[in-house]
Amino acid sequence: MDDRKLTTGMGEECGVFGAYDMEGGDVASSVYYGLFALQHRGQESCGIAVTDTYGERKVHSRKGLGLVNEVFDEETLDSLKGNLGVGHVRYSTAGGTRAENAMPLVLNYVKGTLSIAHNGNITNAVELRHELEYTGAIFQTTIDSEVIAYHIARERLKTKKVEEAVKSAMKKIEGGYALVISSPRKMIGVRDPFGLKPLCIGKRDHTYFLASESCAIAAVGAEFVRDVAPGEIVSFTKHGEKSDTSMSIAVEKQARCIFEYIYFARTDSKIDDVNVYHARIVAGKALAQSYPVEADLVVGVPDSGLVAAKGYSEQSGIPYGMAFHKNSYVGRTFIKPKQSQRESSVKIKLNVIEEVVKGKRIVMVDDSIVRGTTCANIIKMLKKAGAKEVHVRISSPPFLYPCYFGTDVPSNDQLIAHSHTTEEIREMIGADSLGYMEVGKLKEMVGELGYCDACFTGNYPMKVPGKDVSLAFE
Ligand code: SF4
Repeated sequence: MDDRKLTTGMGEECGVFGAYDMEGGDVASSVYYGLFALQHRGQESCGIAVTDTYGERKVHSRKGLGLVNEVFDEETLDSLKGNLGVGHVRYSTAGGTRAENAMPLVLNYVKGTLSIAHNGNITNAVELRHELEYTGAIFQTTIDSEVIAYHIARERLKTKKVEEAVKSAMKKIEGGYALVISSPRKMIGVRDPFGLKPLCIGKRDHTYFLASESCAIAAVGAEFVRDVAPGEIVSFTKHGEKSDTSMSIAVEKQARCIFEYIYFARTDSKIDDVNVYHARIVAGKALAQSYPVEADLVVGVPDSGLVAAKGYSEQSGIPYGMAFHKNSYVGRTFIKPKQSQRESSVKIKLNVIEEVVKGKRIVMVDDSIVRGTTCANIIKMLKKAGAKEVHVRISSPPFLYPCYFGTDVPSNDQLIAHSHTTEEIREMIGADSLGYMEVGKLKEMVGELGYCDACFTGNYPMKVPGKDVSLAFE
């Protein structure tokens, strides 16, 4: 079971990680620790593929369903010999839960072997896949990443360098993506032209790293170098880093996923020079300005609600407290209670600290309300523990539209805000008051950065298909 989904109902994206040791040292264990730091981005499956750019250039890979520390042990990591490694943690947004859909994808073609780790969704994947199938391509998986890999492999036959093949493929694929690719001699990082998905570069001695988030760069003891720019293709060889600006296919109006700052990313990460912690503090302050209330204590729902709650407290002057204990050991093997059983998933995951909330008027800050059931359960728990009032503040605007770029926002009929007013939702969840982040204030979180807020506004940064692409291959 997806650990974070337990409290939010939202599925996160995926995490990608890459390592290239220019002096030929093995990188599998660094990739493992990088993925470990990105585990919050996907808990369904994971994988590592390594190659030895100085040796036979054979790819050795291991993938499986489960958490990073369930799929890999020391023996497995020792067997993955090579100085170029690509890793992936997956939450399925396209293609469903199947072992063969675990990434990285490893593809043999005439120029050697290509490994590819992908975060995001390709919105025109169905058309591209049909196009390829009509020209004889046979697909091994049901994930859209294979479409990208095929395109790169095909284009590579016509180009001198793998980067040119990647660029040609990028001109065909649409959607949000961050890719880490290993070709026989190079590690390549790619970010979609809108910058929807994050990707950054780190360095430790003679090893370069690529990661979805800077927290993974820190986890392997590397220095953060910079973010990969939207539309950039950056490659790493034995001569170091190379980015050719003529290869860039960035668009003018960039659209970083604002939900990375609200919820997905780890609090200690920095994306495109904006600190996630800072963005969440700002969100909490904005909520306090928009929806002041007389209360005794501000509390946050772990994890992403905690910092926003601190921001609310700083702005309002109401003391900040810790109302919940979170059980962090809920892994994939967690057995979800059946309807007939009295334990709810939320209660097993979160427990209220009675001493903190008893007799108090509480402001409870969370990152989102999707279906409303989880929020209602948490409020019930607070009131049972003796809270006099519970005022709910949400650090994202109401979810009204699906995401086509790799975030698992449930369909409209399951989104509570799609069919109910804020007042109706307040009543349904049993809150004393309810306030959502105002759409117009989202920009305060990220300053000058261009961002996507389409799941709140319906203003997609590009043409989107008529139906959810994540169901297209099922
Ligand atoms: S639609 Fe929402 S979740 Fe999807 S990329 Fe845009 S802001 Fe992020």
